[in-house]
Amino acid sequence: MKLATAPAPRGAFAPHMRGYSFVYRENEINHCPGCGRTHWYIGRLSAECGFCQTAMPLSTATTPGIGCKRQASRG
Ligand SMILES: [Zn+2]
Repeated sequence: MKLATAPAPRGAFAPHMRGYSFVYRENEINHCPGCGRTHWYIGRLSAECGFCQTAMPLSTATTPGIGCKRQASRG
């Protein structure tokens, strides 16, 4: 059996090796990956489902310069 691509060296940036991940996107309807509902408690870095407590990071929390950026409203 032959691999299609060689694995990336440890520590190298390889987004295709990370797999699928969830993020909470502000100003969009976000369905919970655990229960499918759309009620969230939103913090500064993550959002938590109001029904099953599944937590997801905010999409804006991973961007550089978050301390310098201010959103207009948080709904
Ligand atoms: Zn949920």
